[in-house]
This record gives sequence, structure tokens and C-alpha cells, in this order.
Amino acid sequence: MSLTRKKGKKAVRKKTARMKKSQHKLQGWSTNDENEWERRRQRGAAESFRIQTLRQITPFLGDFRVLSANGGEYTVEVRSLLQRLNTCDCPDHIVNRLGTCKHVEAVLHKLAKGKKRAFQQAASDGSPLVEIFHDRRAERVRII
Ligand SMILES: [Zn+2]
Repeated sequence: MSLTRKKGKKAVRKKTARMKKSQHKLQGWSTNDENEWERRRQRGAAESFRIQTLRQITPFLGDFRVLSANGGEYTVEVRSLLQRLNTCDCPDHIVNRLGTCKHVEAVLHKLAKGKKRAFQQAASDGSPLVEIFHDRRAERVRII
């Protein structure tokens, strides 16, 4: 359960009230993370972004600049195609503790498009790099 996730006060109050109603709803918190991830995945796939490769590590891993239609410009670092170990410098990624955002999902969507088999192979191959990674999901530093 993420207590620091950025939500309006109203939304937090509603969820707290729902949590008190039943244990079943409490389990909805983890489902909610999946819903939030799914929402970002869909937005990343559906919205229009311009994606530029800044640094290529492998055909699927690297650093990317993502330009959104509203003028936003973000840097996405893709280090894993399986785990949520990718970063973006947008405000959502910094606070949501999901390990992803619509910009990361947009890059992953673009990378996988039309190359599903190669994408899956690259996902199982993993990254050739060893890096120090700030995992925002748990607010800790990891070596990946
Ligand atoms: Zn982002």
C-alpha cells in the first residue's frame, strides 16, 4: 500500500472509507496498483508521443527522450522489459511508486510494436549492464 502516492484529498478519503467497509475492499489496494499500471499502459499505447533514442544499450534497452503532444519532454531509461525497473523524470513516475508511467509504457509499446518475438527474447536475455538503480517503488537503491 502506498501512502505517499499523489492523490487528491477527496480520493484518499474515499479510499479510506472504502477500506473500513470490508476486508475485501482492502485487497483492492493491490488490485488498484494493477489498475493504475494498466491505465498508464493504455495511455502510453494510445496517446501520441515522439520518441527519440538518446543512447542505445541493446536494440531494446537504452535512454529515450519522450515528447508529449502538450509540450512535455521527459527522459526515459529502459533497463528491463520484464520488471518495472525503468525510470522517467516526469512528476507521475517520481511520486506514483508503480515503477512506470505512461512515458515508460509508450517507449515499451513502441519497442515491442511489430517485433514481439525479438522483444520477448530480449526480455528474457535481460540487460548486459550492472547499474545502481533508485527503485522508487520501495524508495531504495538496488544493483540491477
Ligand atoms: Zn513519465
